[in-house]
Amino acid sequence: MINPTGYDRYYPAVQSPQTNTFRGVASNGLSQPVSRPQASIFTQAQDTVELSTKQTEKKGLSTGQKWAIGIGSAIAGLVTAGILISRHETSKLKKLYEQNMVFQNLAEKIDFKEAKTVEEGIKFAKDVLKVGEVDKNFTLDAINFANKGLVEVSNANKGKLFIPKKMWYREMDDNTLAGVVQDIKSPYFGHLMVNKKFFEHERLNKSLNTMLGIGKQKTAVESASKAEGKVSKEFRFVSLLDENLINMIKKYKQSPDSLTIAEKRELWANLSNAGSINTSMLDLAPLATLKNNLALFEKNGIKVDVDDFAKQTTEKQSEKLKELFTQLQEKLGHHPEIDIPYISPTETIHHEMGHLQDFAKNLKELDIKQWKIPSFKEAYNNVKAGKKDTSDVEFVDNRWKGLTYKGFKELFEKNPKKFQKKYPDLYEFLTNQEIQQTAGSVSWYAQTSIGEFIAEVYGKMVRGEKISDEVMALYKKYNGPEIPFA
Ligand SMILES: [Zn+2]
Repeated sequence: MINPTGYDRYYPAVQSPQTNTFRGVASNGLSQPVSRPQASIFTQAQDTVELSTKQTEKKGLSTGQKWAIGIGSAIAGLVTAGILISRHETSKLKKLYEQNMVFQNLAEKIDFKEAKTVEEGIKFAKDVLKVGEVDKNFTLDAINFANKGLVEVSNANKGKLFIPKKMWYREMDDNTLAGVVQDIKSPYFGHLMVNKKFFEHERLNKSLNTMLGIGKQKTAVESASKAEGKVSKEFRFVSLLDENLINMIKKYKQSPDSLTIAEKRELWANLSNAGSINTSMLDLAPLATLKNNLALFEKNGIKVDVDDFAKQTTEKQSEKLKELFTQLQEKLGHHPEIDIPYISPTETIHHEMGHLQDFAKNLKELDIKQWKIPSFKEAYNNVKAGKKDTSDVEFVDNRWKGLTYKGFKELFEKNPKKFQKKYPDLYEFLTNQEIQQTAGSVSWYAQTSIGEFIAEVYGKMVRGEKISDEVMALYKKYNGPEIPFA
């Protein structure tokens, strides 16, 4: 399950910006779950990524083993609830916080064993993980997935962490993997939701077909034949995946029915991850990629003025970086390779648990009692004027909402000044080039809001992944939840 090491490459591998994560969701009320778009969404991405087995050389397989994946896109329209609270409701908020933010002392180290029945899985969630309530309709795959993810987060925290009061298994929108309810006024605040749709063959096949380019004119077959011949002039990375994943792709292509739900989820998570790493490296964090690969460029006689590069906009840097890699590709005589570390699909749960710890920590420190809540008269006038709440509740949106939430992107683009006034921290986060590239080195999703950045980094901490100093400094700036024993 760990990235294989020691694989002998015949030329140096390109270094990614220390990163590779993906997905998770933040959600609003249960009736209208707001969510995180699924992993295969790369608004600025290369539209294809090549994959090849890490074992190619060792096994003497031909380069025809390379596969191309197309990356679909569709950012979900997300729903936000109008917020209006009056002074007398503050005690209600405090109560909701206290009811739903439950700190637990679980066993320091929990052994996870897959349950054999749904009942057994639910019992484990309740008895061992102390989840208050669990939906009865969980499937065996889904409850094992959720429990495994929670065990991993708990173990990283030595059993001391906030645990969701309830775990739901329900249909959410097509682009959502899971979510935690983010609306502090909701009685479901902090509950964890897992999307049923991503445990169904039909939905998983749809995503996998898109990623593997199945059903399109240009498919992996073409890519493979291209790889048999010579390197195409167009620059692209070849992403190296574990051999078992490559075998899964082959099996899936022969017969989609031959993979289990769990295998499809595993494959999907890793293909998404490959796309995410490519995007981060080339489009979102070009400066870090350049710095990480300076020696490689120099070794191949490609000169770069780093200071000059750093002065450019991210878009220009990205263009320039692709030019440099194109030169490198020509010198090498083949596509540069990048290692894609294996990732477990449970990273979704790590991400969601990051949101939960973040809500718990930062709402508590904020002290709901101290919030500036409009008087009844102010609230009334606001409603009369058709305005939404202007109290500290916007602090919540400033921190936990972002570009994937309904209306945010539009306001940010159409009226940046107004946006800045309403959400000053979020505005800075979205407009500061250095911050954006730091977040972009984690993932595109981490770039969309402070809350998503925190959840993405938290997930990496749970998995013990390497986190750059820049990312850690930004995480601290936003008071991200610590993993005290990590
Ligand atoms: Zn999220």
